[in-house]
Amino acid sequence: MFGFLRRWRRERIIARAAIDPAMWEETLQRLPFLDRLTADERARLRATVILFLHEKSIRGASGLQIDDRMRLLIAAQACVLVLNLDIDYFRGWVEIIVYPDEFVPVIEYTDEAGVVHVEREARAGEAWLQGPVILSWADVAPATEGVNVVIHEFAHKLDMLNGDANGFPPLHAGMNRKSWAAAFSAAYADFCRRVEANEDVAIDPYAGESPAEFFAVISEAFFDMPHAVLSAYPDVYTQLKDFYRQDPGGSRGQPIGKSNQVSLAPC
Ligand SMILES: [Zn+2]
Repeated sequence: MFGFLRRWRRERIIARAAIDPAMWEETLQRLPFLDRLTADERARLRATVILFLHEKSIRGASGLQIDDRMRLLIAAQACVLVLNLDIDYFRGWVEIIVYPDEFVPVIEYTDEAGVVHVEREARAGEAWLQGPVILSWADVAPATEGVNVVIHEFAHKLDMLNGDANGFPPLHAGMNRKSWAAAFSAAYADFCRRVEANEDVAIDPYAGESPAEFFAVISEAFFDMPHAVLSAYPDVYTQLKDFYRQDPGGSRGQPIGKSNQVSLAPC
C-alpha cells in the first residue's frame, strides 16, 4: 500500500515538473561520461533528477547565486549514482551548499596529549554524516577525466548510510560482505603501495588517504573511466557493478539491473 502511494506521489511530482528540454540536453552534453546511457536510462535519470530537486535544497554561499542550470548539473551527476537504486539512498538529509570556489573549513581537534590543533585546508567538497553536502562550484563541472567532485561526495553519502564513512556501504541482498572486504582491502593495499613507490597510477592518488576516500575516488573512476578500474582492480569493479547495479565498462555500457525506482507511465 505504502509502496503504491509512494510511487503515485513520485509519478505526480515527475509529471508536474518542468525541465527546459534544451537546458536538460545542455546538461547531458556537459557530462560526456553520460554518453553511454541509453534513451531509456536518460529518461530515468531525468525523472530521478526531478525527484532529487524536489527533495533537496541547493543554495549558494559566499554570495553565489544558484540558477536552474547549476541545479541540473549538480543533480544529474549525483543521480547517476542511484540511477538503478532508488532516490531514497539519499535519505536523511536535505541541504547542498555550494561555494563559488574551494572553501577552507576550520577544523579543530584535540590530540592525545590534550593539545588543541586548528587546521585550515582548502576543499572542493565535503559530505557530513546526516548533514549537508558542500561543493565548490568551480569544481562541479568535471574537467579532468576520472575526477568528479559531485560523484565523490555523493558516494560518501551512500557510504554513510550505515554510519561514518569507512568504504563499506550497506550492501544489497545477495552481495557478500567478505567478497567486498577482500576486493577492497587488496586493492587499497596495492594502491597505497603504488602511490608510495611513486608509480604512475590512473586513479587519483587521493584514494590512498583512507578506505573511505578509496571508495569515493574509485566510484568517480568507475563512472568516468570504468576501464581503468576494470583493468587495475577487476574484483573491485565487480563489487561496484553489483552495488551500483550498473556496468559502465561493459561491452555495451548497459546497466545490469532493472530500476525499481520510478515508472514513467502516466498516472
Ligand atoms: Zn572524500
